[in-house]
Amino acid sequence: MNLIQAEVLEKDYRVGDITINAIRGVDFAIETASFVSFVGPSGSGKTTLLNMIGCLDRPSGGRLSILGTDVTELDAREAAGFRGENIGFVFQDFNLLPVLTAYENIEYPLMLVQHWPKDKRRRRVEELLDAVDMTNQADKRPDQLSGGQKQRVAVARALVTNPKLVLADEPTANLDRDTAQRIIELMKKLRDEFQTTFVFSTHDARIVDEAEMIYALEDGILENGGRPGGTTHA
Ligand code: ADP
Ligand code: MG
Repeated sequence: MNLIQAEVLEKDYRVGDITINAIRGVDFAIETASFVSFVGPSGSGKTTLLNMIGCLDRPSGGRLSILGTDVTELDAREAAGFRGENIGFVFQDFNLLPVLTAYENIEYPLMLVQHWPKDKRRRRVEELLDAVDMTNQADKRPDQLSGGQKQRVAVARALVTNPKLVLADEPTANLDRDTAQRIIELMKKLRDEFQTTFVFSTHDARIVDEAEMIYALEDGILENGGRPGGTTHA
């Protein structure tokens, strides 16, 4: 089954009298446990598209189904519940809470949405710290970590509730090239380990090659119907 299915998906923004057609009728399908990228220049619609997939914003037209749910039908409250249950987010600027340690940042979503006993929480957080190779930095606060380390913590936080889908909007934009490459490789390793579907956006053609499927966005339109990517994927 496809995890995500979009048909003639559209998003318009109204600014005063002007309508901006940010996404102009795109079709795509994303399979469970795949590793997919939307690539395109600034302004091409990547964030708009990921926000719709993340149920943070509603389409203006077309169909969008995630895990068999028609998410265009969800009201704000239902969308929030759906996100909490199924989707993890990774951001360009990491979005870690500065007063919390790496450990506490990863634990935070569990405190909010899952009322697990402390022991169970600890085991899960330690598993994720290990998965992103940050066990030794668990007590550090974000300002004591490098950009790459912060993004490792953020990736662990996105996965801690065991979502089916992780969305990452330009997760490497604030990282140098080698660190960016390592973050993408880490996400792919975690996909293998947890069978989580990863969808990330980038404007960096060097990073995109890691993806198994690449959708190229240009002015709100998909330039290709999705092409296989990856030097490492047969
Ligand atoms: P990208 O993430 O690829 O840079 P965006 O999805 O942010 O692209 O933007 C796509 C288009 O939609 C751009 O023309 C942008 O100016 C416009 N846009 C994005 N968000 C808004 C908004 N909240 N209101 C009006 N226009 C927007
Ligand atoms: Mg963007």
